Amino acid sequence: MKSDTLLVSAGRAHGNAVPVNPPVVRASTFLFDSLAAFQAAGKTPFDGPFYGRVGTPTTFAFEDAICALEAGHRSIATASGLAAISATLMAFAETGAHILVVDTVYEPVRRFCNRTLKRMGVETTYYDPTLGAGIADLIRPETTLIYLESPGSGTFEVQDLQAIVAAAKARGVATAIDATWATPLLLKPLALGIDVSIHAATKYIVGHSDGMLGVITTNAAVHDRVRAASQDLGSCAGVEECNLALRGLRTLGVRLERQGATALALAEWLETLPQVARVLHPALPSFPGHALWKRDFTGAAGLFSVELSDRTDGAAARFIDSLKHFSVGFSWGGFESLVLPMHPESRSLGLWSDLGPVIRLQIGLEDLEDLKADLAQALAK
Ligand SMILES: *Cc1c(COP(=O)(O)O)cnc(C)c1O
Repeated sequence: MKSDTLLVSAGRAHGNAVPVNPPVVRASTFLFDSLAAFQAAGKTPFDGPFYGRVGTPTTFAFEDAICALEAGHRSIATASGLAAISATLMAFAETGAHILVVDTVYEPVRRFCNRTLKRMGVETTYYDPTLGAGIADLIRPETTLIYLESPGSGTFEVQDLQAIVAAAKARGVATAIDATWATPLLLKPLALGIDVSIHAATKYIVGHSDGMLGVITTNAAVHDRVRAASQDLGSCAGVEECNLALRGLRTLGVRLERQGATALALAEWLETLPQVARVLHPALPSFPGHALWKRDFTGAAGLFSVELSDRTDGAAARFIDSLKHFSVGFSWGGFESLVLPMHPESRSLGLWSDLGPVIRLQIGLEDLEDLKADLAQALAK
Protein backbone atom coordinates (compact mmCIF):
# COMPACT_ATOMS: atom_id res chain seq x y z
CA MET A 1 0.00 0.00 0.00
CA LYS A 2 1.25 3.49 -0.85
CA SER A 3 1.48 6.04 1.97
CA ASP A 4 -1.45 8.13 0.74
CA THR A 5 -3.70 5.08 0.89
CA LEU A 6 -2.36 4.04 4.27
CA LEU A 7 -2.98 7.54 5.67
CA VAL A 8 -6.70 7.18 5.07
CA SER A 9 -7.24 4.12 7.24
CA ALA A 10 -4.14 3.75 9.45
CA GLY A 11 -5.09 3.14 13.08
CA ARG A 12 -8.73 2.42 12.30
CA ALA A 13 -10.36 -0.49 14.12
CA HIS A 14 -11.58 -3.47 12.13
CA GLY A 15 -15.07 -4.93 12.22
CA ASN A 16 -18.65 -3.85 11.86
CA ALA A 17 -19.87 -0.28 12.52
CA VAL A 18 -16.49 1.16 13.54
CA PRO A 19 -16.07 4.95 13.52
CA VAL A 20 -14.09 6.30 10.55
CA ASN A 21 -11.70 8.08 12.88
CA PRO A 22 -10.87 6.51 16.27
CA PRO A 23 -12.70 8.58 18.90
CA VAL A 24 -11.26 10.09 22.06
CA VAL A 25 -11.32 7.56 24.88
CA ARG A 26 -10.47 9.24 28.17
CA ALA A 27 -9.52 6.97 31.03
CA SER A 28 -7.15 6.53 33.89
CA THR A 29 -8.87 3.37 35.06
CA PHE A 30 -10.01 0.39 33.06
CA LEU A 31 -12.25 -2.04 34.92
CA PHE A 32 -11.79 -5.80 34.87
CA ASP A 33 -14.42 -8.30 35.89
CA SER A 34 -12.04 -10.50 37.89
CA LEU A 35 -8.65 -10.33 39.51
CA ALA A 36 -7.47 -13.00 37.08
CA ALA A 37 -8.47 -10.88 34.07
CA PHE A 38 -6.72 -7.85 35.60
CA GLN A 39 -3.55 -9.84 36.24
CA ALA A 40 -3.62 -11.33 32.75
CA ALA A 41 -3.89 -7.85 31.21
CA GLY A 42 -0.98 -6.69 33.40
CA LYS A 43 1.30 -9.29 31.82
CA THR A 44 1.12 -7.41 28.50
CA PRO A 45 0.20 -3.86 29.55
CA PHE A 46 1.22 -2.36 26.19
CA ASP A 47 -1.03 -4.60 24.13
CA GLY A 48 -4.40 -3.30 25.26
CA PRO A 49 -6.09 -1.05 27.80
CA PHE A 50 -4.63 -1.59 31.26
CA TYR A 51 -3.86 1.76 32.85
CA GLY A 52 -4.35 5.21 31.30
CA ARG A 53 -0.71 6.20 31.45
CA VAL A 54 0.18 3.32 29.15
CA GLY A 55 -2.55 4.42 26.78
CA THR A 56 -6.21 4.18 25.93
CA PRO A 57 -7.60 2.86 22.61
CA THR A 58 -7.05 6.36 21.16
CA THR A 59 -3.34 6.24 22.03
CA PHE A 60 -2.98 2.74 20.62
CA ALA A 61 -4.73 3.76 17.39
CA PHE A 62 -2.29 6.66 16.92
CA GLU A 63 0.71 4.46 17.72
CA ASP A 64 -0.48 1.78 15.31
CA ALA A 65 -0.99 4.35 12.55
CA ILE A 66 2.52 5.77 12.92
CA CYS A 67 4.05 2.31 13.21
CA ALA A 68 2.39 1.28 9.94
CA LEU A 69 3.67 4.40 8.15
CA GLU A 70 7.19 3.92 9.53
CA ALA A 71 7.16 0.15 8.97
CA GLY A 72 8.61 -0.22 12.45
CA HIS A 73 8.30 -2.80 15.22
CA ARG A 74 6.21 -0.61 17.56
CA SER A 75 5.54 3.06 18.25
CA ILE A 76 5.27 4.91 21.57
CA ALA A 77 3.31 8.17 21.89
CA THR A 78 4.74 10.78 24.28
CA ALA A 79 3.67 14.11 25.74
CA SER A 80 5.77 16.17 23.31
CA GLY A 81 8.49 15.83 20.73
CA LEU A 82 11.07 16.69 23.36
CA ALA A 83 9.67 13.97 25.67
CA ALA A 84 10.16 11.45 22.84
CA ILE A 85 13.78 12.59 22.47
CA SER A 86 14.62 12.61 26.18
CA ALA A 87 13.10 9.13 26.62
CA THR A 88 15.26 7.87 23.75
CA LEU A 89 18.43 9.48 25.13
CA MET A 90 17.66 8.11 28.61
CA ALA A 91 17.31 4.63 27.14
CA PHE A 92 20.99 4.76 26.13
CA ALA A 93 22.28 6.74 29.11
CA GLU A 94 24.29 5.19 31.90
CA THR A 95 27.09 6.48 34.08
CA GLY A 96 30.30 6.55 32.07
CA ALA A 97 28.54 6.30 28.73
CA HIS A 98 29.35 8.49 25.75
CA ILE A 99 26.88 9.63 23.10
CA LEU A 100 27.40 11.34 19.76
CA VAL A 101 24.92 14.10 18.95
CA VAL A 102 24.80 16.08 15.72
CA ASP A 103 25.85 19.70 16.24
CA THR A 104 22.81 21.00 14.32
CA VAL A 105 20.47 19.35 16.82
CA TYR A 106 17.22 20.97 17.95
CA GLU A 107 18.48 23.31 20.66
CA PRO A 108 16.51 21.97 23.69
CA VAL A 109 18.15 18.56 23.08
CA ARG A 110 21.57 20.14 23.56
CA ARG A 111 20.27 21.55 26.84
CA PHE A 112 19.10 18.09 27.96
CA CYS A 113 22.52 16.61 27.17
CA ASN A 114 24.54 19.45 28.73
CA ARG A 115 22.39 19.69 31.83
CA THR A 116 20.61 16.44 32.73
CA LEU A 117 22.74 13.80 31.00
CA LYS A 118 25.96 15.47 32.14
CA ARG A 119 24.76 15.35 35.75
CA MET A 120 24.19 11.60 35.27
CA GLY A 121 27.77 11.12 34.11
CA VAL A 122 27.03 10.80 30.40
CA GLU A 123 29.43 12.59 28.08
CA THR A 124 28.15 14.14 24.85
CA THR A 125 30.30 14.88 21.79
CA TYR A 126 28.71 17.11 19.18
CA TYR A 127 29.73 16.11 15.67
CA ASP A 128 29.83 17.95 12.36
CA PRO A 129 26.59 17.19 10.45
CA THR A 130 28.59 16.77 7.23
CA LEU A 131 31.20 14.30 8.51
CA GLY A 132 29.55 11.13 7.14
CA ALA A 133 31.76 8.03 7.43
CA GLY A 134 34.20 10.10 9.52
CA ILE A 135 31.90 9.44 12.47
CA ALA A 136 33.83 6.17 12.92
CA ASP A 137 36.77 8.14 14.36
CA LEU A 138 34.55 9.53 17.11
CA ILE A 139 33.12 6.21 18.29
CA ARG A 140 34.65 5.00 21.57
CA PRO A 141 34.26 1.70 23.40
CA GLU A 142 31.80 3.42 25.75
CA THR A 143 29.71 5.04 22.98
CA THR A 144 26.11 3.83 23.30
CA LEU A 145 24.23 6.02 20.81
CA ILE A 146 24.61 8.13 17.69
CA TYR A 147 21.87 10.73 17.57
CA LEU A 148 21.01 12.21 14.19
CA GLU A 149 18.76 14.97 12.96
CA SER A 150 18.47 15.52 9.24
CA PRO A 151 18.05 18.06 7.86
CA GLY A 152 19.56 19.98 10.78
CA SER A 153 17.49 22.45 12.77
CA GLY A 154 17.46 25.95 11.31
CA THR A 155 20.23 25.47 8.74
CA PHE A 156 19.10 22.19 7.13
CA GLU A 157 22.45 20.39 6.70
CA VAL A 158 21.73 16.92 5.31
CA GLN A 159 23.53 14.03 6.99
CA ASP A 160 24.96 11.01 5.20
CA LEU A 161 22.58 8.66 6.98
CA GLN A 162 23.78 5.54 5.16
CA ALA A 163 27.47 6.09 5.97
CA ILE A 164 26.71 6.83 9.61
CA VAL A 165 24.47 3.77 9.99
CA ALA A 166 27.18 1.59 8.43
CA ALA A 167 29.82 2.94 10.86
CA ALA A 168 27.46 2.48 13.82
CA LYS A 169 26.58 -1.09 12.87
CA ALA A 170 30.25 -1.99 12.42
CA ARG A 171 30.83 -1.00 16.06
CA GLY A 172 27.52 -2.18 17.53
CA VAL A 173 26.35 1.33 18.40
CA ALA A 174 22.63 2.18 18.28
CA THR A 175 21.30 5.03 16.14
CA ALA A 176 18.32 7.37 16.60
CA ILE A 177 17.07 10.13 14.34
CA ASP A 178 14.82 13.15 14.77
CA ALA A 179 12.94 12.95 11.45
CA THR A 180 10.34 15.62 12.20
CA TRP A 181 11.04 17.66 9.04
CA ALA A 182 10.46 14.69 6.77
CA THR A 183 7.36 13.38 8.59
CA PRO A 184 6.79 9.62 8.24
CA LEU A 185 6.13 10.23 4.52
CA LEU A 186 9.39 11.63 3.10
CA LEU A 187 11.99 9.50 4.89
CA LYS A 188 11.92 5.90 6.11
CA PRO A 189 14.60 5.78 8.83
CA LEU A 190 13.99 2.17 9.89
CA ALA A 191 14.36 0.95 6.31
CA LEU A 192 17.76 2.68 6.27
CA GLY A 193 18.79 0.66 9.32
CA ILE A 194 18.33 3.38 11.95
CA ASP A 195 17.09 1.86 15.23
CA VAL A 196 14.84 4.68 16.47
CA SER A 197 12.79 7.21 14.51
CA ILE A 198 11.43 10.21 16.41
CA HIS A 199 8.80 12.76 15.38
CA ALA A 200 7.61 15.91 17.05
CA ALA A 201 3.99 15.18 16.03
CA THR A 202 3.31 18.72 17.27
CA LYS A 203 4.51 19.86 13.84
CA TYR A 204 3.12 18.38 10.59
CA ILE A 205 1.29 15.39 12.06
CA VAL A 206 -1.09 17.29 14.35
CA GLY A 207 -0.67 19.88 11.60
CA HIS A 208 -2.93 22.65 12.93
CA SER A 209 -0.76 24.26 15.64
CA ASP A 210 -3.12 23.22 18.41
CA GLY A 211 -1.52 20.30 20.22
CA MET A 212 1.75 19.01 21.71
CA LEU A 213 2.66 15.40 20.93
CA GLY A 214 5.65 13.18 20.21
CA VAL A 215 6.11 9.67 18.91
CA ILE A 216 8.97 7.17 18.92
CA THR A 217 9.12 4.21 16.55
CA THR A 218 11.72 1.50 17.06
CA ASN A 219 12.89 -1.76 15.58
CA ALA A 220 12.55 -4.92 17.65
CA ALA A 221 16.15 -4.89 18.90
CA VAL A 222 15.96 -1.70 20.96
CA HIS A 223 12.24 -1.52 21.64
CA ASP A 224 12.21 -2.78 25.22
CA ARG A 225 14.86 -0.38 26.50
CA VAL A 226 13.22 2.63 24.83
CA ARG A 227 9.81 1.55 26.12
CA ALA A 228 11.21 1.16 29.64
CA ALA A 229 12.79 4.63 29.63
CA SER A 230 9.60 6.19 28.31
CA GLN A 231 7.56 4.39 30.97
CA ASP A 232 9.90 5.46 33.76
CA LEU A 233 9.72 9.12 32.72
CA GLY A 234 5.92 8.99 32.81
CA SER A 235 5.37 11.69 30.20
CA CYS A 236 2.50 9.99 28.41
CA ALA A 237 0.63 11.43 25.46
CA GLY A 238 -2.71 13.12 25.97
CA VAL A 239 -5.60 11.30 24.31
CA GLU A 240 -7.10 14.49 22.83
CA GLU A 241 -3.76 15.10 21.12
CA CYS A 242 -3.60 11.54 19.80
CA ASN A 243 -7.06 12.05 18.30
CA LEU A 244 -6.00 15.37 16.75
CA ALA A 245 -2.92 13.65 15.35
CA LEU A 246 -4.99 10.86 13.79
CA ARG A 247 -7.21 13.51 12.23
CA GLY A 248 -4.13 15.39 11.04
CA LEU A 249 -2.67 12.27 9.46
CA ARG A 250 -5.63 11.95 7.08
CA THR A 251 -4.64 15.17 5.28
CA LEU A 252 -0.89 15.03 5.87
CA GLY A 253 -0.12 13.91 2.32
CA VAL A 254 -1.94 16.78 0.59
CA ARG A 255 -0.83 19.41 3.10
CA LEU A 256 2.78 18.39 2.78
CA GLU A 257 2.64 18.24 -1.00
CA ARG A 258 1.13 21.73 -1.28
CA GLN A 259 3.31 23.32 1.43
CA GLY A 260 6.42 21.66 0.02
CA ALA A 261 5.66 22.86 -3.51
CA THR A 262 4.97 26.45 -2.41
CA ALA A 263 8.12 26.45 -0.29
CA LEU A 264 10.31 25.18 -3.13
CA ALA A 265 8.87 27.74 -5.57
CA LEU A 266 9.62 30.50 -3.06
CA ALA A 267 13.10 29.11 -2.34
CA GLU A 268 13.98 29.07 -6.05
CA TRP A 269 12.75 32.64 -6.46
CA LEU A 270 14.45 33.91 -3.28
CA GLU A 271 17.74 32.51 -4.54
CA THR A 272 17.66 34.99 -7.44
CA LEU A 273 17.26 38.09 -5.25
CA PRO A 274 20.14 40.39 -4.25
CA GLN A 275 18.77 40.84 -0.70
CA VAL A 276 19.23 37.11 -0.09
CA ALA A 277 22.77 35.79 0.37
CA ARG A 278 21.86 32.11 0.55
CA VAL A 279 18.77 29.93 0.63
CA LEU A 280 19.13 26.93 2.92
CA HIS A 281 16.81 24.35 1.37
CA PRO A 282 17.87 20.73 0.68
CA ALA A 283 15.85 20.48 -2.56
CA LEU A 284 17.83 23.28 -4.23
CA PRO A 285 20.61 21.88 -6.44
CA SER A 286 22.85 24.69 -5.11
CA PHE A 287 22.55 23.37 -1.55
CA PRO A 288 25.62 21.37 -0.40
CA GLY A 289 23.60 18.43 0.95
CA HIS A 290 21.34 18.21 -2.10
CA ALA A 291 22.66 14.90 -3.47
CA LEU A 292 22.29 13.16 -0.10
CA TRP A 293 18.77 14.55 0.29
CA LYS A 294 17.87 13.26 -3.17
CA ARG A 295 19.25 9.83 -2.37
CA ASP A 296 17.43 9.28 0.93
CA PHE A 297 14.31 11.48 0.92
CA THR A 298 11.29 11.29 -1.38
CA GLY A 299 10.34 14.94 -1.10
CA ALA A 300 10.79 18.22 0.74
CA ALA A 301 8.72 19.77 3.50
CA GLY A 302 7.68 23.42 3.65
CA LEU A 303 10.32 24.65 6.10
CA PHE A 304 13.58 26.31 5.07
CA SER A 305 15.78 29.30 5.88
CA VAL A 306 17.23 32.30 4.10
CA GLU A 307 20.40 34.16 4.95
CA LEU A 308 19.96 37.90 4.42
CA SER A 309 22.67 39.83 2.57
CA ASP A 310 22.30 42.79 4.92
CA ARG A 311 24.24 41.98 8.10
CA THR A 312 23.69 45.38 9.72
CA ASP A 313 21.94 45.58 13.08
CA GLY A 314 18.18 45.64 12.81
CA ALA A 315 17.95 44.42 9.21
CA ALA A 316 16.50 41.04 10.20
CA ALA A 317 13.98 42.60 12.60
CA ARG A 318 12.92 45.13 9.93
CA PHE A 319 12.35 42.30 7.43
CA ILE A 320 10.41 40.17 9.92
CA ASP A 321 8.26 43.01 11.21
CA SER A 322 7.39 44.09 7.66
CA LEU A 323 5.85 40.72 6.78
CA LYS A 324 2.04 40.60 6.73
CA HIS A 325 1.31 36.94 6.03
CA PHE A 326 4.09 35.45 8.19
CA SER A 327 3.49 35.65 11.96
CA VAL A 328 6.27 35.40 14.53
CA GLY A 329 5.98 32.28 16.64
CA PHE A 330 7.56 29.00 17.66
CA SER A 331 6.88 25.67 16.01
CA TRP A 332 5.99 24.85 12.40
CA GLY A 333 4.11 22.28 10.33
CA GLY A 334 0.73 23.98 10.77
CA PHE A 335 -1.37 25.44 7.95
CA GLU A 336 -0.20 29.02 8.52
CA SER A 337 3.04 30.70 7.51
CA LEU A 338 5.49 31.64 10.26
CA VAL A 339 8.83 33.40 10.49
CA LEU A 340 11.56 33.18 13.13
CA PRO A 341 15.21 34.27 13.34
CA MET A 342 17.67 31.39 13.91
CA HIS A 343 20.84 31.62 15.93
CA PRO A 344 23.30 29.17 14.39
CA GLU A 345 26.16 31.16 15.94
CA SER A 346 25.58 29.04 19.07
CA ARG A 347 27.09 26.15 17.09
CA SER A 348 30.72 25.52 16.44
CA LEU A 349 30.53 23.04 13.55
CA GLY A 350 28.95 22.64 10.17
CA LEU A 351 29.01 24.42 6.87
CA TRP A 352 27.63 27.62 8.16
CA SER A 353 30.29 29.05 10.44
CA ASP A 354 30.21 32.44 8.68
CA LEU A 355 26.47 32.92 8.37
CA GLY A 356 24.81 36.34 8.50
CA PRO A 357 21.22 36.72 9.73
CA VAL A 358 19.37 33.45 9.19
CA ILE A 359 15.58 33.62 9.02
CA ARG A 360 13.50 30.46 9.07
CA LEU A 361 10.31 30.42 7.01
CA GLN A 362 7.48 27.95 7.64
CA ILE A 363 5.31 27.98 4.53
CA GLY A 364 1.61 27.46 5.10
CA LEU A 365 -1.34 26.83 2.81
CA GLU A 366 -1.70 30.46 1.68
CA ASP A 367 -1.55 31.40 -2.00
CA LEU A 368 1.95 31.35 -3.50
CA GLU A 369 1.64 34.77 -5.15
CA ASP A 370 0.43 36.41 -1.95
CA LEU A 371 3.39 35.01 -0.02
CA LYS A 372 5.82 36.02 -2.75
CA ALA A 373 4.51 39.60 -2.86
CA ASP A 374 4.72 39.79 0.92
CA LEU A 375 8.33 38.56 1.01
CA ALA A 376 9.23 40.96 -1.82
CA GLN A 377 7.87 44.04 -0.05
CA ALA A 378 9.50 43.06 3.26
CA LEU A 379 12.88 42.39 1.59
CA ALA A 380 12.66 45.78 -0.11
CA LYS A 381 12.54 47.37 3.35
C1 LIG B 1 9.74 21.24 17.68
C2 LIG B 1 10.78 20.23 17.51
C3 LIG B 1 10.99 19.26 18.49
C4 LIG B 1 10.28 19.27 19.80
O1 LIG B 1 8.90 19.04 19.70
P1 LIG B 1 7.92 19.57 20.85
O2 LIG B 1 6.66 18.85 20.56
O3 LIG B 1 7.87 21.06 20.69
O4 LIG B 1 8.52 19.17 22.17
C5 LIG B 1 11.93 18.29 18.24
N1 LIG B 1 12.65 18.28 17.09
C6 LIG B 1 12.47 19.20 16.14
C7 LIG B 1 13.29 19.12 14.90
C8 LIG B 1 11.54 20.21 16.31
O5 LIG B 1 11.40 21.15 15.37
